[in-house]
Amino acid sequence: MSSCAICPRTAPDGQHACPLHTDELRAWLAELPYQTRLLEEFVAPAGRPSAGRIGGTGRAHAPVPVDMRVLALLGPGHADPGTADEEPDTIPIRAWLDAWAGFIAYSHPAVRRDLYGTQYTRPCEQAVPKKGATIPGWCTWLTAYLPHALTHPWIADFHRQLGDLIDRIRDLTHAVPHRHEYAAQCPACEAFALAAVDGQEGITCSRCGHHLTHAEYDQHAADFLRAHQAAATEDAA
Ligand SMILES: [Zn+2]
Ligand SMILES: [Zn+2]
Repeated sequence: MSSCAICPRTAPDGQHACPLHTDELRAWLAELPYQTRLLEEFVAPAGRPSAGRIGGTGRAHAPVPVDMRVLALLGPGHADPGTADEEPDTIPIRAWLDAWAGFIAYSHPAVRRDLYGTQYTRPCEQAVPKKGATIPGWCTWLTAYLPHALTHPWIADFHRQLGDLIDRIRDLTHAVPHRHEYAAQCPACEAFALAAVDGQEGITCSRCGHHLTHAEYDQHAADFLRAHQAAATEDAA
């Protein structure tokens, strides 16, 4: 057993993130392309139909002034994983993804054989996203390489930076994934605080952080209900 580099929970063998934080990373990478589309709508010229604007009447009111932070996030530029903390406000999304993909690719061993069958292991030189070097392309690539990234302690840096980036974007788009509350008590701390967040796979206790898969919750909820009914029958007898 190893421990999560982000929180005090234990992580699966050979990994540096617990199931909750692994889930969170996967959800953020899935959310990022959607949030980017929302940001792009801020920059879309007025008059072009876009979500949230009632169409058909042309320009009914003055266009919303474009926030410079939106332009900075969508702009071109360079980043490297080491410096992302220094000037977070000026790092564009694509440059940030680019930099991390390059870094992860370089830490990923590539095995090659030469003409004589001798095997060489050396780092991958380049990250090549199948869907192109776009924000969705990089998010798909990073999700595919997540199992490798989870085996390194720097996953904590990746998690912190991606979390900051998502927070900054949500602040501008006001689009926050929905939470769904679950009825059964948390099996770890007994608080009624289990909830699932859209885009994340499992269910998490907001009190103690205990994490369950949906199958585990179903089993737990069935046991919980059975115990509850048994107690009710006893009371009635
Ligand atoms: Zn964790
Ligand atoms: Zn709990």
